[in-house]
Amino acid sequence: MSPSSSSPASASASASGAAPVIVWFRDDLRLADHPALSHAVASGAPVLCLFVHDPRTAPSGAAQWWLHGGLCALRDDLSRMGATLHVAHGDATVLVPRLAQLAHAAQVVWNRRYDPQGRETDTTIKAALKQDGVAAHSFAASVMHEPWTVRTRAGDAFRVYTAWWRAARAMGDPPPPLPAPRRIGDAGMPDGWRAECVGIDALGFLPVAPDWAGGLRATWHPGEAAARARLHEFVQDDMAGYATARDRPDLPATSMLSPALRFGHISPRQAWHAVACDGGGAAEDRAKFLAELGWRDFAVSLLYEQPELVRSNFRTEFDAMPWRNDARDLHAWQQGCTGYPIVDAGMRQLWRTGWMHNRVRMIVASFLTKHLLMDWRVGEGWFRDTLVDADIASNVVNWQWVAGCGVDAAPYFRVFNPVLQGKKFDPDGTYVRRWVPELAHLPASRIHCPWTCAPAEVPRGYPAPIVGLDEGRARALSAWRGLSGAT
Ligand code: FAD
Repeated sequence: MSPSSSSPASASASASGAAPVIVWFRDDLRLADHPALSHAVASGAPVLCLFVHDPRTAPSGAAQWWLHGGLCALRDDLSRMGATLHVAHGDATVLVPRLAQLAHAAQVVWNRRYDPQGRETDTTIKAALKQDGVAAHSFAASVMHEPWTVRTRAGDAFRVYTAWWRAARAMGDPPPPLPAPRRIGDAGMPDGWRAECVGIDALGFLPVAPDWAGGLRATWHPGEAAARARLHEFVQDDMAGYATARDRPDLPATSMLSPALRFGHISPRQAWHAVACDGGGAAEDRAKFLAELGWRDFAVSLLYEQPELVRSNFRTEFDAMPWRNDARDLHAWQQGCTGYPIVDAGMRQLWRTGWMHNRVRMIVASFLTKHLLMDWRVGEGWFRDTLVDADIASNVVNWQWVAGCGVDAAPYFRVFNPVLQGKKFDPDGTYVRRWVPELAHLPASRIHCPWTCAPAEVPRGYPAPIVGLDEGRARALSAWRGLSGAT
């Protein structure tokens, strides 16, 4: 893994001292368990820490707000170690090779990503660096099992989660996480970089007018330190009962670590080992949590195998689905004004905080794709803009799963009834009361079906259901039965 000493870049750099190693940060905004950073530090060469905002691969909306905070936290963490985070803005396929040349870098190192656009970008950059005589090394850090490592006996990719998980477990625990480096030998600002680099604020990630991020600021603290503190707190105090309580949006029963995992403030290996080795709760709680981390890897591997899933149905019979295109219904769903309290609570929680409980994500996704008969891609796009944890693999795979057109998906005919789901998973109505305060006075027996109350009890502003439960269900099933090959 040592750089080629005959390369033009390292030859010219060696005239002015050791050639630096560029660590290119992407979805791995942390110092611990960062193999690319550890490799750079271990090389003994001066280090340049780089983040490139490439609009083609960048998140949007709430996730962009998170990214701003994550970058500020990384900048401060690096600065405490004497290193600088350099930030550039533009096409990474042009910028990374150019910055490497300007710095006379010996190597550029990064942790691998697996989504179609990210892979294409990295392959192009690797080739460009090679042509310039700069070594490029990549490392596994963002998943527990890289997509090509978990295979059937015949060497094929898995299409069923339970079988994938069994095979992944048979491979043993993921490797233990690496410690953060003690010190980073910073290379200073190379000639020519000043003109290419910008401050984090200049990326324009924070909303100005209107400032819609108040609820996000009140809910989250992006960055490695906060993520590690939350992981510790979850493992020590909140694990007990996770296996059953994780389905209850009214209880603080899940880790809420998804945005920290999405932006790599902690790695899945760190989460795994914290839970598997030190986790509180019963064995079934720990096993369930680890299996959820497994879903994250499984989604990554599905998209790796079939990049077209980003836009295309896995089950192609769904290509003929007569999805409705109704702007009024869509708006009601997005704004949390469908007249179904559990759906509205979820959509308002999402709008305010950039996050929604997993059970409620399933309920609102089922409502959109079944009761409203709207294309899963419309919902996926809304989530992509509004979730702080928006992740292409997890989002697409879960939307296709709920919509019935995905890999190992719930059958389309399994239509969630939002009233029954509400009664089962939010039995006292605590979750609805929090996010739909105009219904807070209703008794638990009626809060999930306010239309059954006396008219005077229902607040004027709260809408009547935009579609009847039976009507929406029947319309969805009739559309689905019309598909050839629907099973
Ligand atoms: P916990 O219950 O504490 O789980 C721990 C971790 O496991 C999570 O942080 C997450 O990284 C992973 N995980 C849990 N459930 C899933 C799952 N079903 N699929 C993949 N990973 C999972 N998750 C995202 O991170 N980004 C998304 O864009 C996203 N979109 C979704 C869209 C829909 C329609 C649905 C139904 C689910 C989506 N999920 C997504 C999965 C899941 O809802 C969230 O990961 C979870 O709610 C995060 O909360 P938590 O960290 O408290 O989870």
